[in-house]
Amino acid sequence: MRAGAKGNRPQQITLLGATGSIGTQTLDVLALHPERYQVYALTAGHRWEALAEQCLRWRPRYAVLADEQAAEALRNHLRGLGSDTEVLAGAQAQCQVAAAADVDTVVAAIVGAAGVYPTLAAVDAGKRILLANKEALVVTGQLFMDAVRRSGAELIPVDSEHSAIFQCLPWGLPAGGDRLRGVSKLLLTASGGPFRGMDAEALARVTPAEAVRHPNWSMGPKISVDSATLMNKGLELIEACWLFAVTPAQVEVVVHPQSVLHSMVEYDDGSVLAQLGSPDMKTPIACALAWPERIRSGAERLDFTRLGGLDFEAPDETCFPCLRLAREAMDTGGVATAVLNAANEVAVAAFLAGHLDFPGIAAVVEQTLATTAMPACSDVEAVMAVDAQARRQARDIAVKVAKVVKHKDVSERAQ
Ligand code: NAD
Ligand code: MG
Repeated sequence: MRAGAKGNRPQQITLLGATGSIGTQTLDVLALHPERYQVYALTAGHRWEALAEQCLRWRPRYAVLADEQAAEALRNHLRGLGSDTEVLAGAQAQCQVAAAADVDTVVAAIVGAAGVYPTLAAVDAGKRILLANKEALVVTGQLFMDAVRRSGAELIPVDSEHSAIFQCLPWGLPAGGDRLRGVSKLLLTASGGPFRGMDAEALARVTPAEAVRHPNWSMGPKISVDSATLMNKGLELIEACWLFAVTPAQVEVVVHPQSVLHSMVEYDDGSVLAQLGSPDMKTPIACALAWPERIRSGAERLDFTRLGGLDFEAPDETCFPCLRLAREAMDTGGVATAVLNAANEVAVAAFLAGHLDFPGIAAVVEQTLATTAMPACSDVEAVMAVDAQARRQARDIAVKVAKVVKHKDVSERAQ
């Protein structure tokens, strides 16, 4: 049987977060292989107009919006155009289309902890899961991996660094809690983001518009800010620990500004394997879709004669403390990484809305981690209750941190 299809029929895909950066690039890859893949369901948050266009092009059986009113607007719009797509609303419906019996593969591309329940629904149903939504794994960690083991779901990373590591492991992901054999460390590369090399003074003045302008990758606003603070690398370090069953001490972050080498695996014998490609998410998306086969992605090819140098340097954890905070949260274990993620989502939203300065993001995360209760949690509902509590705490802290910023600005102007 071909990996890309069950029997002779095309593989049925549910795409969670279809209107986002990963969602639209996934559709770009699917469009190159109509004989291999069919879209079963497309889901999004509230942008119904974008989802409407995708529904008309892809004719999925279901379209789901988290927002009820947006779903009503989409339903009326599609009905008026004679579309067969059934429109559903709410978080439960996202879980339903992720777990549906007819679905083979679920692309988890919702941003943030909003993706926890739909992604876990796909895991519990034993699907092949193409994981872009790193926050779902960061928030639920051990519970997520236990559920994968129980259901026999097949987890394939889409995040470019984890895809690179996955491709450098001849045996794929370690099964059932096994450790990686013969691996001494994983080297996670980071672009360094748009503010690489800036000092604390300059970082205090950067704007949201500058933060979302990434030098190499075109991504959604939240992950772009995470790349600028290095929290993205922190979340990826946690993601790598769960996916590859390693400790934070076995993951080294290396800044590589060109984003051509996407991560590496160092083996006990000193050999280092790396995966390279142009900075285009269509490559890891296509790799995950077809694995272990290879299909065209539409990504630009690397031209080594025009590449120039590849540079590497250590990350600056003094000016960019989020990487350290993430590593410490993973070392703490339990729900600490859920608290880290919740605080970061609140802080990034406050920064994007202009309510918090850039260094305030790390300050909110650090103070939320220091002041939120972290009980032992044996189920996802308990973890999500901690997530909700951490968000309340982070909002209060963000207001106080923002006041300090304002106060400082006022006093500076007065001088
Ligand atoms: P994005 O903001 O461009 O898109 C997010 C998608 O999630 C949209 O379709 C949005 O409608 C949907 N969404 C938001 N809230 C929702 C909710 N409550 N319920 C249902 N859907 C909701 O984000 P992105 O850049 O595509 O990133 C998606 C995920 O992939 C993130 O976890 C990110 O860390 C990860 N990722 C992205 C890239 C990239 O290059 N963009 C690379 C690696 C990993
Ligand atoms: Mg990445």
